[in-house]
Amino acid sequence: MKQKTLFTPGPLNTPSTVKSAMQIDVGSRTPEMTELTQNIRTELTALLDNPGEFTAIPMQGSGTFALEAMISSFLGPQHRVLILANGAYGDRLTTICNIHNINYKALSFNSLEPIPITQVANQLKTEPSFTHLLLVHFETGEGVLNDINAILKLAEQHHCQVLLDAMSSFPVLPINTQSNSLAAITSSANKCLHGPPGFAFVLARKNNLLNTQPPKTLSLDLNAQYQSFEQTGQWRFTPPTHSLLGFHHALLQFKQQGGAHARLAHYQTLADLLITELKKTNIQPVIQKAHRAPIIITFQLPKTHQLTSQLLEKQLHANNLVIYPAKQSNVKQFRIGVIGELTKNNILSLTKKITAILNTVCDQQTTDS
Ligand SMILES: *Cc1c(COP(=O)(O)O)cnc(C)c1O
Repeated sequence: MKQKTLFTPGPLNTPSTVKSAMQIDVGSRTPEMTELTQNIRTELTALLDNPGEFTAIPMQGSGTFALEAMISSFLGPQHRVLILANGAYGDRLTTICNIHNINYKALSFNSLEPIPITQVANQLKTEPSFTHLLLVHFETGEGVLNDINAILKLAEQHHCQVLLDAMSSFPVLPINTQSNSLAAITSSANKCLHGPPGFAFVLARKNNLLNTQPPKTLSLDLNAQYQSFEQTGQWRFTPPTHSLLGFHHALLQFKQQGGAHARLAHYQTLADLLITELKKTNIQPVIQKAHRAPIIITFQLPKTHQLTSQLLEKQLHANNLVIYPAKQSNVKQFRIGVIGELTKNNILSLTKKITAILNTVCDQQTTDS
């Protein structure tokens, strides 16, 4: 298999040092594994302003596994949840709540804009029974950034706890973890921290983990996972040993490179370059500038042009460049991620190729007619 350049929001290009860190086999119930796991847990909470108030609970699987663990472990029959959804990942939260028989109400908003704060405020005023809010921070579906800090303020006013899917934003886009309303954040190894896929994690406010309820699932039981890490330092079931080794190195590199601030600045440089270059061929971002973040960007192909996003993806793939389809199977839209080990040159190679494909397809059309 050939190495390709991934412009996708995870899995993404990992640094070669992360890949080489995975070249050893570690036993699951060994002191090395315990130390590695505890190190990762400590370093994850150290990314927060108030590390002492949170605990990191890694969970095997992709991001959705950790989300399902968070939702099913935190929410019981005594709770009522308001789900705020403005895209595909928001809808996924509703699917999880449905499966776990959680008492919820879901508000669906325009996927091209952030969650409207005043509408949420009105809902909380008219129906004060909600105990929790559940939402996505950066909606990777279309690439829309929600104002989490405004929502945390609302939650404080209405005495609600917030459960946050910060999969594609943590720890690069700021979240006010000082807010007492923030109960838990979920993110994954293979997003902004540039690790390999294999596990995700929940950063939970410690005092919340104490109100345990009967587990609804064996493997996704967050409380049991937490107890195991605290009491034995071990994973309950087979840990993703290689992913943990790679991720540990990725965390180290994140710190060495200047942390969240530096990484966000780098993503911004890449996103600006990408947008400028594609505008030259009349490929435009779908989401307004004020609502975007330099994580993933949805683009629209020129409406009158023959090229479809499917053909574009196929041709780019043949050139070892991997982009992402649009969430709303729109034949003229596609997404490009700027997270992962990417340089300005990677962006320029991509935009050059896209321009070339656009011109070739156009030429064919002219020749055909
Ligand atoms: C990546 C992502 C997820 C998790 O997706 P998986 O395929 O399970 O890793 C969830 N929410 C958001 C916003 C994401 O970007």
